[in-house]
Amino acid sequence: MAKKEHILRRCVFCGRSEKEVQVLITSPQAAICSDCLQNASIILEELLQEGLDAPQRGKPGKLPKPREIAAFLDQYVIGQDEAKKYLSVAVYNHYKRIGQKQNDDVDLEKSNILLVGETGTGKTLLANTIARMLHVPFAIVDATVLTEAGYVGEDVESTLARLLQNANYDVQAAERGIVFIDELDKIARKGDNPSITRDVSGEGVQQGLLKLLEGSVVNVPPDGGRKHPEQKMIRVDTKNILFICGGAFDGIERRIGQRLNTQMIGYGVAHKTAHIDRKNLLQYVTPADLRSYGLIPEIVGRLPILTYLKALDPQALRRILTEPKNAIIKQYIHLFKMDGIDLTFEDAALDLIVESAVLFKLGARGLRTICETIMIDAMYDLPSSDKKSLQITRNYAEEKLGRLSATQQRLNVA
Ligand code: ADP
Repeated sequence: MAKKEHILRRCVFCGRSEKEVQVLITSPQAAICSDCLQNASIILEELLQEGLDAPQRGKPGKLPKPREIAAFLDQYVIGQDEAKKYLSVAVYNHYKRIGQKQNDDVDLEKSNILLVGETGTGKTLLANTIARMLHVPFAIVDATVLTEAGYVGEDVESTLARLLQNANYDVQAAERGIVFIDELDKIARKGDNPSITRDVSGEGVQQGLLKLLEGSVVNVPPDGGRKHPEQKMIRVDTKNILFICGGAFDGIERRIGQRLNTQMIGYGVAHKTAHIDRKNLLQYVTPADLRSYGLIPEIVGRLPILTYLKALDPQALRRILTEPKNAIIKQYIHLFKMDGIDLTFEDAALDLIVESAVLFKLGARGLRTICETIMIDAMYDLPSSDKKSLQITRNYAEEKLGRLSATQQRLNVA
């Protein structure tokens, strides 16, 4: 009798064999591995949450309306209503423009966006969330690493290499994607007077970026970094890529304040200045302020949608902890639940987390570090114990935060 041969079963999605995966779930017809199953479940959850069915996504005619975009952003980003409104309209118009028929009389112009706001106020989060909603390729690039050709650093074109990579080298998809350029302010010309304190490399990078922002066909080195003469390039048209730029523009409030004061002189100063919200001068930012900060006029002109993000106050930080769909506290509760542990937080403990973030001037970015400091022992010990519940009280949090000064020192060094 012929010996029964053992056929190696494979996952129909990733092709890995049962020996290469943790668990292979099989049926008489097919098999799927635990990793692919997990990924599929995440994708399914996202699709169900967003209420968009797959065939609709990305088609200009079926685009979510600005209010729907803003409502989606509300689930992940706290506050920043003004920025959400501008961003939603700009993104909506951008994708309408892409869907425009070639022979339309009115040529819709591209609506690249500039978000001005302190670091850690949600600029990247906004851009990232929009891209997730639209299911378009998305890349984040730090303007500080970009340099003019010939200098040490990355060519401006490498910005698009990242987008291509994230689009799995599907050039067509990348050409409808979104690029977030962070820290745009760091490539501003230093000083008000360009002829005296000219920062050549900063201006050179701005000129390079201009090419991308206004829409042109560029040769992109597929692996990013520097271009080599013998390297094969991929041609990418940036005409329909939406660029969202962000920057803290430290000190720009002073310029805005000065401008507002000057404008007021001689026109019933007392009456008009009374209406200015001095605590939040960023809301009055204009293209002229950006030029005076050191952006070249052409770049400013290519970022026609200009909006601002507010500094986060303690109330906003408190909401960030618990309200967004993937809020930090929700994540901890979920993590513990996976071990069958019921985790709860006393309100006073949450207040302490916010107070510490404010005290150490860590902003929203610091919330996670503070939470980690409080939770690390429990995350280490509880999975091996019989405990089935844990309440984080203010006392518990205070005790664990004894370490925060050390953590903060680490952060300051980093
Ligand atoms: P920026 O790009 O402005 O420097 P980020 O968007 O990277 O800041 O924010 C850093 C982190 O802080 C985010 O990952 C998010 O967890 C949190 N965060 C910042 N602002 C908000 C906000 N308005 N709503 C929710 N979370 C926020």
